[in-house]
Amino acid sequence: MTDHACIFCRILKGEIPSRQILEDGVGVAIHDVNPQAPFHAIVIARRHVPDVASLIAVDGEGSIAGNLMKMAVKVAQEAGLSAKGYRLVINTGEFGGQTVDHLHIHVLGGRQMLWPPG
Ligand code: AMP
Ligand code: ZN
Repeated sequence: MTDHACIFCRILKGEIPSRQILEDGVGVAIHDVNPQAPFHAIVIARRHVPDVASLIAVDGEGSIAGNLMKMAVKVAQEAGLSAKGYRLVINTGEFGGQTVDHLHIHVLGGRQMLWPPG
C-alpha cells in the first residue's frame, strides 16, 4: 500500500510538507510545488497505485478512479475555475510525461490551455 521511496507516499505520511486543499478516504489534493498554470493542484490516491493503467487490476468497483475524479472537479470548483473552464490531466508512463509513479490527477486552470499539448 505504501512505497517508502515514493515522494507522494512520503507526502501522505506527513514526512514531506505540502499545501493541502482537500482530503477524503481515497485521495488528498495538494498544490503542485512547480505550478504550470495560475492554479495547479494534484489529486493523489491514498493508495500507492503506480499509474492509471494499474487501476484495471486493483480498482474493481472503480471507486478509486471515481472518487479521485470527483475530488479533482471539487478542487476546480472551489478554486473558482468552473466559469472559464479548466483541465484535468493524468500523465502515464514515459511518453505521457509521468515523473512520479503514484497515481495523481493534475487540476490546471486560470489561463487558456493549448491543444495539442506539448
Ligand atoms: P507527473 O509528471 O504527471 O508525474 O506529475 C508529478 C507532479 O508532482 C509534478 O507536477 C511535480 O511538480 C509535482 N511534485 C513533485 N514533488 C512534489 C511535492 N513535493 N509537492 C507537490 N508537488 C510535487
Ligand atoms: Zn506512492
